[in-house]
Amino acid sequence: MTRKLYYEDAYMKEAKAKVLEIRENALLLDQTIFYPTGGGQPHDRGTINGVEVLDVYKEGENVWHVVAEPERFKPGDEVELKIDWDYRYRLMRIHSAMHLLEHVLNEVLPGKWELYGSGMSAEKGRYDILYQENVNQYKEKMIETFNRYVDEGGEMRIWWEGKTRYTQIRDFEVIPCGGTHVRDIKEIGHLKKLKRSSLGKGKQRLELWLEG
Ligand SMILES: [Zn+2]
Repeated sequence: MTRKLYYEDAYMKEAKAKVLEIRENALLLDQTIFYPTGGGQPHDRGTINGVEVLDVYKEGENVWHVVAEPERFKPGDEVELKIDWDYRYRLMRIHSAMHLLEHVLNEVLPGKWELYGSGMSAEKGRYDILYQENVNQYKEKMIETFNRYVDEGGEMRIWWEGKTRYTQIRDFEVIPCGGTHVRDIKEIGHLKKLKRSSLGKGKQRLELWLEG
């Protein structure tokens, strides 16, 4: 089992760990700061003892790290982990922005809407919704509301109930989520762009880009 340091402190940029097992080109560690692909959030980039990490994935409670030069490691090694912080922090901001967007949609859009897909990269977030009206008519209001909340700020609380991890901004919706978030929504920054495109039959895609 791998201790998930990214859940204990999403702001850890470096840590030490021990290699428990090696399988082909992947290392199993006793603890890690590398977030594995999951919940729509891409895996972290970075290095282990200076060797590039190419992929990070979860298997049960274990986190495996695919490295460029596996021959440089053996079980029992004490290793130095370092994540690409700029990349991870952008993902944390985009990911948190999508939670805030969910609340903004609930607040601004009259009537019911439904989420049916989402995704993110370090550049932008994508939110696919079902809604009968064209969302474009509410876009200005959505951007204004989003940026106002960012200016006011608010803690993103995280807690566990059994095996489920929940997150909540201020007193907004409680959302089950396994990703990494910013501490305060001030860190998200303002929306640079919000783009709506039609996917037909009430299906609409919202894409967001952040300032900075
Ligand atoms: Zn989340």
